[in-house]
Amino acid sequence: MKVPDKKDFLSMSFEELTEFITASGYQKFRAKQIYEWMYRGNDFSQMSNIPEKMRIDLDGMAVINLPKIRKKLVSDIDGTIKYLFLLNDGNFIESVVMKYNYGLSVCISSQCGCRMGCRFCASTIGGKVRDLLPSELIGQIIVASADIGERISHIVMMGIGEPLDNYDNVIKFLKLVNQPEGLGISYRNISLSTCGIVPKISELANLAFPITLSISLHASNDISRSEIMPINNTYSISELLYACNNYFKKTGRRISFEYTLISGKNDSKENAKELASVLKKHISGPIHVNLIPLNPVIERDFKTVDRHFAQKFADILKSLGVNATVRRTLGPDINASCGQLRRSEEINNK
Ligand code: SAH
Repeated sequence: MKVPDKKDFLSMSFEELTEFITASGYQKFRAKQIYEWMYRGNDFSQMSNIPEKMRIDLDGMAVINLPKIRKKLVSDIDGTIKYLFLLNDGNFIESVVMKYNYGLSVCISSQCGCRMGCRFCASTIGGKVRDLLPSELIGQIIVASADIGERISHIVMMGIGEPLDNYDNVIKFLKLVNQPEGLGISYRNISLSTCGIVPKISELANLAFPITLSISLHASNDISRSEIMPINNTYSISELLYACNNYFKKTGRRISFEYTLISGKNDSKENAKELASVLKKHISGPIHVNLIPLNPVIERDFKTVDRHFAQKFADILKSLGVNATVRRTLGPDINASCGQLRRSEEINNK
């Protein structure tokens, strides 16, 4: 006989959980109690205001699928915290918590691995292992926040994986995060970064959540972008920017563009001019370009540029009317750019 799958409580909205609890013969207020406990990072055994018999029954039919902290690195320089999380099937993901003057911001992973194949990125080297469930997406925030003992107010989906390649779970996650009974985080405090899966950008635009869309552009023309980002062979820069402009028109949200500077690949004055021109041609709303000196990945032979050089690139963009800043490097002493901690853990475990 096949054992039925257990319910994944943390992937359920408050409404769905309430329905399940009442359909299982319990009183409605129990759903609120369970929700409060699990959003504080607790398992059934810790739910002290729920009768023991009910806790045992719940444990038999459901799971609270929180990741476990396997490693934690804290920067002595700026307090940035990097977590290596263990998932319940033995896979690893990473999250980073950054301190800003407006509060704590968490950068979360959206998949275990990635299949997008960007040439400069460590997260994609082993390919995609699997998508993360809504519970595993929200679990990163709950566990980090409980560990630090402070509320996390901002989310960036810029960790391992491509969020729009895990679209349904990510949308469910965004709704969970926004629920007042859940984390109560405003959509305006959430950024989602994508390499540019155009049809999914359009679907997201139709939902009109006022989240910030960040586009990993990294090149000023199709030839150069296709060389470093395989997704560009499917959707060209003009198709991508057309979808971005549509996103702006539907949500009114400024689009952010990520541009990783790679020495000798995309960092010339001509690239800066071409970038300004292509962005202004396609985007009617406000634009912001985030310049990121490449974080060198051991397995790749791309070279980075220094900050001074990146600033000059930013100055050219600004002189052409495109707002640009060089991204601040947080936690330089705990570096391991995204994906590298997970990779080293997996290699060591083999
Ligand atoms: N898949 C999504 C989100 C994850 S990557 C995306 O592509 O946007 C988060 C950001 O880090 C992206 O802009 C990505 O291109 C960038 N990135 C990846 N590897 C990098 C590296 N070695 N140095 C600098 N930025 C990198």
